[in-house]
Amino acid sequence: MTQTGHTPAVDATHALSPVPSAAARRDQPVPGRIRYYFGPMACGKSTLALQIDHNHARQGRRGLLLVRHDRSGTPTITSRIGITRDAIEVHEEMNIQDLVRAQWAGNQRVDYLIVDEAQFLSPCQVEQLAELADHAQVDIYCFGLAIDFRSHLFPGTQRLVELADELHPVQVEVLCWCGLPGRFNARTQDNRILREGDTVLVADTADGDPGGESTVRYQVLCRRHYRSGELGPQAVPAGQLSLA
Ligand SMILES: [Zn+2]
Repeated sequence: MTQTGHTPAVDATHALSPVPSAAARRDQPVPGRIRYYFGPMACGKSTLALQIDHNHARQGRRGLLLVRHDRSGTPTITSRIGITRDAIEVHEEMNIQDLVRAQWAGNQRVDYLIVDEAQFLSPCQVEQLAELADHAQVDIYCFGLAIDFRSHLFPGTQRLVELADELHPVQVEVLCWCGLPGRFNARTQDNRILREGDTVLVADTADGDPGGESTVRYQVLCRRHYRSGELGPQAVPAGQLSLA
């Protein structure tokens, strides 16, 4: 596009809009913020979720704790270092806006939502979170995995990455057997990596072998060893990292 003299060019693709003055913004409610904290399995996401809830609650804010496919099998947010809080299980068809509206109808404040295992949310449920942030000023804290066992983004994670105001890698590192930070959640069986199958495998695989097949496990690996398929000198101990 050409421009002559000092006359600004009219550019139909111009990305920037004029903004209102500070005075004009005073009457506008500020939308809630959507934050996504992500990392591999066992990196401390649930612990962080409960810490954030504790910090908000002790200053008088009221939140709801939500979870999908909690590893304990009951609707709780369970931290691997031993802290547990009751939570609301988000079912596949649940409308999270309706859930929050029901709280309001009962005169319960909802200032923020904490969602654990948020990678399992449907893209539609992530849209509902965005609606609550934008039109009801609810702050949204989501915690989950980034990538599945095939090293692809979960659909829920993808929508969160697209819509969130802030993306935070959780900085408590989990190490591959080689000592490098692990970012990949490998699904393994008989000491081999499985690269095909359903994205969500919710079965509690640590309890043995109900189908007569050998146990499916998860193991955190660095990129090099995820790609090469080398699982290290010894198998993962039974009971470790038993859920997606
Ligand atoms: Zn490695």
